[in-house]
Formats: sequence, structure tokens, C-alpha cells
Amino acid sequence: MNPSQGQAGTSRPCAYCGKPVPSRMNRCPFCREEVREVHLSVRSGKDGRREVRRGLIYMLLGAVIHYFAGGYSAISLPYPLNPFVTTYLSPAVFLGGLGLCLYGTYLRMRS
Ligand SMILES: [Zn+2]
Repeated sequence: MNPSQGQAGTSRPCAYCGKPVPSRMNRCPFCREEVREVHLSVRSGKDGRREVRRGLIYMLLGAVIHYFAGGYSAISLPYPLNPFVTTYLSPAVFLGGLGLCLYGTYLRMRS
């Protein structure tokens, strides 16, 4: 199935007056405002780039949490921290990010 088919006869709401505009027109017939064509990315979330990026962010976040909460930095936190954070939470965030990164890599290899 071609996802671009089936959009020829559809209409989308005008951004200015909210009335339905046929998608083949680029100008609203009601208020004469230009309606820009919205290209919805069909491949969004399927090539895995977003997953890889998000995974790297989670890994970085987990590492930063572990670094500060574990007392490796010179800056000592002004409040006592639950050791639960360093033993479970930051490794969980890190491993979650690693898994997301691997999942994104897997998606990129498939596409
Ligand atoms: Zn309009």
C-alpha cells in the first residue's frame, strides 16, 4: 500500500479559519489565506535515528546522575542522597538508554 494514496480527496482544516480545505489546494477558499502543505514524515520513528539519539541522551543522563549522586565529583551535594539512586536508578536509566540505542541501531540496520 502506498501511504501517499488516499490523500487526494481528503481535506484538512485551515490554520486560520478552521474550515476544511481540500488538500490539493494551497489556498483556503474561505479566507484566502495560504495553507502550506504539511508533509507528514511517513518514516518518522522507523529509521531509528530518534531512538539512537534518545538512547544516547538517557545514557548521558544516567552517567551524570551516577557521577554526582555517587560522590565522584568534587562538588558535594548539599543534601543527603538516598543510596537507592546510585545503586538502582542511575544504572537503570543508563541501561534503558543503552537498550534504546541498540534498538535504534537495529532499526537503522533493517531500513
Ligand atoms: Zn481559511
